[in-house]
Amino acid sequence: ATPTALLVGTGRGAQLGILIKGAEVLERTRRVDTIVLDKTGTVTEGRMTLAATVPAHGQDVEELRRLAAAVESASEHPIAAAIAAGNADLPPVTNFKNLEGLGVRGEVDGREILIGRPGLLRERGYDVPADVLEACDTEESRGRTAVVAGWDGAARGVFAVADRIRPTSADAIARLKRLGLHPVLLTGDNETVARAVATEAGIDEVVAGVLPAGKVDAVKELQARGRVVAMAGDGVNDAAALAQADLGLAMGTGTDAAIEAADLTLVRGDLTAAADAIRLSRRTLTIIR
Ligand code: ADP
Ligand code: MG
Repeated sequence: ATPTALLVGTGRGAQLGILIKGAEVLERTRRVDTIVLDKTGTVTEGRMTLAATVPAHGQDVEELRRLAAAVESASEHPIAAAIAAGNADLPPVTNFKNLEGLGVRGEVDGREILIGRPGLLRERGYDVPADVLEACDTEESRGRTAVVAGWDGAARGVFAVADRIRPTSADAIARLKRLGLHPVLLTGDNETVARAVATEAGIDEVVAGVLPAGKVDAVKELQARGRVVAMAGDGVNDAAALAQADLGLAMGTGTDAAIEAADLTLVRGDLTAAADAIRLSRRTLTIIR
């Protein structure tokens, strides 16, 4: 392959809304046979809205809202934005900590508030009553992500947030499949929500409930099975997996960490451009030969 011919390919890429880090990236793009897709912010829009607030038995809903919104206003996660939205005059939060891929914690008046996946509260010794677990199941069966808020050693309520699949995702995935790629949905979210999104997007394989570190392992595992893996993601927690993949694709709408770790950026945050990139790489090399 002559460098000039490959540069023609990267120039065309820019026109299609694809930024390529170096012409040699196209070589790797051509060989990819599997595409791992992060769910939130990649296949979906990543703009969560609050669909329901369910207080635990005996819990005041206003207090639940206020304390959860206070802690989440310190987080940049799309779930946090949904929970914090529209709440003014919130109490100050101290010792805030982002528990990557699990949730958040912070203190209001010296009292710990913990918010995250139901398992997080249980692991930290919080009592999670049956009505709270039931509310989680109900919301998840509706395709929503349920997070639990708690303090003083017990879960106090559930927030259900909803996201939407990007309008272009199903078409993009259909095109990727026609190009011979096997799509895999990868997410820290729960299995029920992941399955619902996968079905809507036309993705057959789902790996759900993974921690941020688990995303790299999922890519490595596919590579160990002889797959040449592309990974598309947008989050800070996708960066390591994007770097591990044979081809890392970052959403231009995503975080700087993802864009830096990737080989290629889909400027408009549209997966259709991923299909264009694969097609382009194959065509470019055909012309060169
Ligand atoms: P994804 O892979 O879908 O981008 P993350 O790894 O960011 O998801 O988060 C995984 C799970 O951790 C979420 O589904 C949620 O249960 C929990 N979580 C993460 N951040 C927060 C937060 N700020 N507030 C509450 N829960 C959170
Ligand atoms: Mg994401």
